[in-house]
Amino acid sequence: MNFPGNFFHIGDIDIAELKSLVRNLTEAQWTSFSTRQRRYEVHQHTHTIGLVYDPDFRHSHPTRLPMLAIFEVAMRPALWMAADHFEETETGQRLIRENGSGYFIRASLVRLKAGCSIAEHQDMNFSLTHSHRIHLPIVTNDQVLFTVGKETINIREGQLTEINNRRMHSVHNNGPDDRVHLILDYVMPGEQCCCGAKHHPQTRCSPQACMETVLLRVPCTCHPED
Ligand SMILES: [Zn+2]
Ligand SMILES: [Zn+2]
Repeated sequence: MNFPGNFFHIGDIDIAELKSLVRNLTEAQWTSFSTRQRRYEVHQHTHTIGLVYDPDFRHSHPTRLPMLAIFEVAMRPALWMAADHFEETETGQRLIRENGSGYFIRASLVRLKAGCSIAEHQDMNFSLTHSHRIHLPIVTNDQVLFTVGKETINIREGQLTEINNRRMHSVHNNGPDDRVHLILDYVMPGEQCCCGAKHHPQTRCSPQACMETVLLRVPCTCHPED
């Protein structure tokens, strides 16, 4: 989702338990899911383990995958902190009253090999533009550089961080070790995308109503970059 800024540091999580679970993953566990789900050229140097995931990028009724059982308990502090962050605001409280509670539509572990990159891109589908994309580094090093817009930072282990995935973004792992992030997509039902109020003030966001803005056929000028 677009917001005024590139990164938002939500808070810090103790990731010790998640880290030891990730260390125990086998190469077969890392590669089998990625081979089946491989879709995007920019992500060719990554391996993904879907925990809550649907290849159709749906926006409701997420599918919990078997690997979730391994990580579910250890993930809870991160899930709670992220959900609280979006639900405790005035807007969050109103959305919950009107539409019900928020939910995680996707959760994945994503490994970026040492020396590899994710090329610059913007996320361009309905669900990715109407949910909050949150990264939690589980295994990283100080030579992993995340760029959003014109800002490049090193997100440290345990720093729960929302990423503005509507701006151009890329990642470079210049370090000697693979990087592993837990990536969460959180939906607040009824929350409009930045362009919604401007382009279809009378109707809610939907794949139909937002198609032109999601694909950037109508340029978005809602939160200009510095
Ligand atoms: Zn929208
Ligand atoms: Zn916009």
